[in-house]
Amino acid sequence: MKRPILIHPDPRLKKPCAPVPDLSDDLRALADDMLETMYDAPGIGLAAPQIGVLHRLIVLDCEKEEGAAPRPLVMFNPQILDSSAELNTYEEGCLSIPDQFADVTRPEAVRVGWLDRDGTPREAEFDGLWATCVQHEIDHLDGKLFIDYLKPLKRQMITRKMQKLKRERARG
Ligand SMILES: [Zn+2]
Repeated sequence: MKRPILIHPDPRLKKPCAPVPDLSDDLRALADDMLETMYDAPGIGLAAPQIGVLHRLIVLDCEKEEGAAPRPLVMFNPQILDSSAELNTYEEGCLSIPDQFADVTRPEAVRVGWLDRDGTPREAEFDGLWATCVQHEIDHLDGKLFIDYLKPLKRQMITRKMQKLKRERARG
């Protein structure tokens, strides 16, 4: 089932999320809903707080090759275990901040540990777009948005645009 995506500014996007204690069918269904919502948007990553659920859960699929099979990843309690010294700059966007993009510099590669959909502990190294995306999504679990990396003036400009967008949407 597709879920509505919260638009910044929203207090739920600024809160640190709680670790998932035990995997349950409800949580698995939530992860499936998040994947459906992400693919539909379309986006390459989605964090639970973006649909108003304050759990440490993210989904992503950065496979951009035309015609390639989807590579959905579900991560419960994801943690960055190690980051490369090399940095990489990508133009980032966010489903909670539609149509706004800005360059963000982050470690080029990260090693991440998480629990998969079956509750099995996993560990993998990500680089390129996957590394940027997984860091962006884990930031969401700590109440941090990509615009928090920007200069205050640019951040305020984007926030004002989003406030206007929300007013327009509320009016219908
Ligand atoms: Zn985002």
